[in-house]
Amino acid sequence: MIDATAVLVIALALAGAIQFLFWQRARRGQERLAGRLVTLEREQRLAKADAESAHQETAQIADASYDPILVVDSERRIRRLNQAARDLFGVGEGSLGTSFIAVTRSHELEGYLTAALHGEPRLDQQLTLDQFTFRARIVRHTGNDGAVIRVVVTLNNVTELIRLTRARRDMVANFSHDMRTPISSIRLLVEMLRQNLGKNPQGDQTKLAKIASATDSLQHMMQELLDLSTIESGRAIMRMVETTFGDILSRSLEMMEAQFEEKGLTVINEAAMDVRVLADPDQVRRVINNIFHNAVKFTPKKGEIVISTAQTTSHLAVCIKDSGPGIPPFERTRVFERFYQVDGTRSGAADSRGRGTGLGLAIGKHIIEAHGGRIWVEGGIPSGACLLFTLPLA
Ligand code: ATP
Ligand code: MG
Repeated sequence: MIDATAVLVIALALAGAIQFLFWQRARRGQERLAGRLVTLEREQRLAKADAESAHQETAQIADASYDPILVVDSERRIRRLNQAARDLFGVGEGSLGTSFIAVTRSHELEGYLTAALHGEPRLDQQLTLDQFTFRARIVRHTGNDGAVIRVVVTLNNVTELIRLTRARRDMVANFSHDMRTPISSIRLLVEMLRQNLGKNPQGDQTKLAKIASATDSLQHMMQELLDLSTIESGRAIMRMVETTFGDILSRSLEMMEAQFEEKGLTVINEAAMDVRVLADPDQVRRVINNIFHNAVKFTPKKGEIVISTAQTTSHLAVCIKDSGPGIPPFERTRVFERFYQVDGTRSGAADSRGRGTGLGLAIGKHIIEAHGGRIWVEGGIPSGACLLFTLPLA
C-alpha cells in the first residue's frame, strides 16, 4: 500500500519535473523569440530612420539648388518638387500628387514631358516661363521591365546669361563703332597734312587741332572703359570718409565753371551744403561731374541748372535738374546701361563737346550703388532732365 503511494508520489513528482522542464524550455524559447522580435523591430526602426534621413538629405540637396527641379510619375503627377520650383510656380507642399500641367501651367513644358514619356529618354530645350528664359532638361527613368518610373525635369534660368552675352556683343559693336569715327578722321587729317604740309599754315593748325580733339575723345573713351571695368570687377576701392556734401559739390562747381559760362547757363544751388555724408569724395565728384557735363551738353544756350537736396533719416537725396530736352520716360532706366544713348544723341552731336560714349551714367550707377545709394532719372518740370541720387548720411 505504502509502495503504491510512494510510486504515485514519485510519478507525480516526475510528471511535475518534466512539466517544469517543458515549461522552462518554452519560456526560454519565448524569451528568445521576444528578443528576436525586439532586434527585428530595432532594425526596422533604423532602416526606416535611414530611409527618412536619406529622403530628407535628397530633399535638402534639391532645396539647396538654384534650379527648379520637379519629379513626375508616369501618370504625370508631381512626386517631388524643390524649393526653387515651388517659388517659380508659386505652389506649396500641397501640390504633391497634382498634375504637372496644373503646377507648371506651361503647355510647352507639358509637350516636352509627353515627348519624354513616349519617345526621347532625354531632352534639352530652351523655353520661356514667366518672362524668364530657361534651359529645360527632361530625363526619363525606367525600371528593368522598361516601364517609366519617373521623369526628372530640371530648369536652369539662363536669362541673365543671355542678357550678359548680348550686352558683351553690343558693347564690342558699340565700342568699335564709336572708335571708328575719331580714328578715320585722324587718318584723313594726317593724310591731308602729309600731302599739303606747310602750304597753308593756318589750315595745318586747324587740322592739328581736329586731330588733338579726336585723340581726346579716344582717350576719354578708353579711360571710361577702363574705369568701368575696374569698378565692375570690384577692384575700385571706395575710400569712405565723413565729409559735408558742400565739400564735394563746391569742387565740382569750380571744375565746371568755365563750361557753364561758355554755354551761358545759370546755375542755381539750393543744396544743403553742410549735411554730413559718408562718401568717397573723388568718386562722388565723378558722378556729379558727369551729370553736369550731360546737362551742359544737352541744355540749349542760356538754360538753367538747379541743384537741390532733401534729407531722410538715413540718406541725403540730391537732385540736379536742367532745362534741356529731358530724357523720355521709357529711356530713363536704360541710360544707366553701358553705351546707351538716347536716339539722336548718338548721331548729331548735341554740342561741341562731342557725342560722348554713353558710359558716364553707367559708371555713376556703380559708384552710387557702391555707396549703398540709388540713382535714377525723373522728368524735369516743366521740361528737362532731373537726375537724382542718394548718399548715406554720416
Ligand atoms: P559719356 O558720359 O560716356 O561721355 P554720354 O554723356 O552720352 O557719354 P551718359 O552720361 O551715360 O553718356 O548718358 C547716357 C545718355 O543719356 C546720353 O547719351 C543722353 O542720351 C542721355 N542723357 C543723359 N543726361 C541727359 C540730360 N541731362 N538731358 C538729356 N539727355 C540726357
Ligand atoms: Mg555723360
